[in-house]
Amino acid sequence: MSKSILVIGAGPAGLSAAHLLCQKGYQVSVYEADPIDVGGLSKTVEFEGFSFDIGGHRFYTKAKEVSDYWHEVLGDKFIRRTRLSRIYYNGKFFKYPLELSDVLKNLSLFQNASFLLSYIKVKVFPRKRVKSFEDWIISQFGTSLYLAFFKSYTEKVWGMPCHEISKDWAAQRINNLNVTKILWQFIQKILGIQRDKNAIKSLIEEFDYPRKGPGMLWDEVKDLVIKNGGTVEFGKMVTGLELKEGKWSLKFSDGSQSQSADHVISSAPLGTLLKGLTPPPSSTFLKMAENYKYRDFLTVVLMFKKRETFPDNWIYIHDPKVQVARIQNYKNWSEEMVPSLDYTSYGLEYFCQKDDAFWSQSDEELSNLAIKEIEAIGLPFSRDGLKTKVVRMPYAYPVYDHDHQKRAQELQKELKNYPGLHLAGRNGLHRYNNQDHSIKTAMIVAENIDAGKEIKDPWKVNQDALYLETEEERKG
Ligand SMILES: Cc1cc2nc3c(=O)[nH]c(=O)nc-3n(C[C@H](O)[C@H](O)[C@H](O)COP(=O)(O)OP(=O)(O)OC[C@H]3O[C@@H](n4cnc5c(N)ncnc54)[C@H](O)[C@@H]3O)c2cc1C
Repeated sequence: MSKSILVIGAGPAGLSAAHLLCQKGYQVSVYEADPIDVGGLSKTVEFEGFSFDIGGHRFYTKAKEVSDYWHEVLGDKFIRRTRLSRIYYNGKFFKYPLELSDVLKNLSLFQNASFLLSYIKVKVFPRKRVKSFEDWIISQFGTSLYLAFFKSYTEKVWGMPCHEISKDWAAQRINNLNVTKILWQFIQKILGIQRDKNAIKSLIEEFDYPRKGPGMLWDEVKDLVIKNGGTVEFGKMVTGLELKEGKWSLKFSDGSQSQSADHVISSAPLGTLLKGLTPPPSSTFLKMAENYKYRDFLTVVLMFKKRETFPDNWIYIHDPKVQVARIQNYKNWSEEMVPSLDYTSYGLEYFCQKDDAFWSQSDEELSNLAIKEIEAIGLPFSRDGLKTKVVRMPYAYPVYDHDHQKRAQELQKELKNYPGLHLAGRNGLHRYNNQDHSIKTAMIVAENIDAGKEIKDPWKVNQDALYLETEEERKG
């Protein structure tokens, strides 16, 4: 008889693992807490003819097997987009990734001189101790650039001062934004010297996007799982998982229980999962597990009748006077995200904690705030036919504090006591993973289960050079 697998979560990791294992003939049951949607953080929400993402989801990967996988599933339903994203700072818009000519044009002589001097200063007198995000950025770019283009947005995202955020986040996400390279490209441009074609490409940057948003891919994968004999159950919040006599079973918040199975794959947030584990992990580790922290996220979507809009896919809001951190312009991701081009929809993204006062404001209060802020920023907007929708997304960002690597090492030791338990995905591994990394971890877990032993290590994904995106920076 084929082996049985329980999967927690129908996001990219859970569904990809389920799909690959169903194809190989395993009996797979997926349990998803959401009552309606698959896709997790990569779902697409539909509302009165409009569709929108949680954030915006670029499909970009350096892992060929991941790209082959999503193109095999969606085929010609992908469109190719050219990225345009800018930073709104001090009432002006700056291209992001930064371009020197644009920075020079937008800032006063005094500000430009201050950027250059603080950059030279840090290169001549480098920081000895680089521990935090703040240290890392200042040591790369100088204090003035840090204050203008990194501090405010990053603190909105993480809700804590940059000196408390681990440098790992910066090193992982902003790994190749090189000021010397930007300066050299600028000098070459002035002198009319042929520029390096690859350098130009990395600044333009293209990505794929499903015509109707990322949820389109995950709906298709769910259908494939079911077609190949698997099951996907909605509204099933896993609250406990038990290992007994070599078999695994799950408990749900509605009091029901799953059949027992040979393996369980979890993409649920580690901080919640570990509390429900039987037999429990060591008390020392359970104490450490209390420190898994998350940043929650909500989007206020404004939908209105107006054809004209701004040209970007999204804009980073570095202005500390408004609370919004980023604004998505869904029509510029795909024209199929709006009912007709006479309409526009913006997603105003706010980072918060689900137990703070901001999160628990009413939808009406949040919508009023978003309207006030979009009008204050001055982007094209109209109250004609205005509709609003608030989407709350808990556990959106796993927080990297100074102990996160030590905690991950301890966890891997603890897991040796739980044969058949496999962790995958973003919150499943507490890694700042994009879809491609989450899918890759699922592929590895599926391969390990099929091989009957650990032949590859999912913890190495998004850590090895192989998986890092070295040609471009990806700001979260
Ligand atoms: C704002 C934002 C922008 C992003 N932009 C991009 C981008 O441009 N490109 C990109 O590739 N990636 C992007 N990402 C990352 C991408 O969303 C994630 O990497 C991906 O969705 C992670 O997949 P996953 O399956 O690991 O986890 P998730 O997407 O979190 O899915 C986990 C699923 O498990 C379910 N679940 C959790 N706990 C339980 C439980 N106890 N019981 C049952 N079910 C449970 C959840 O409901 C969810 O459906 C972005 C993320 C955010 C927040």
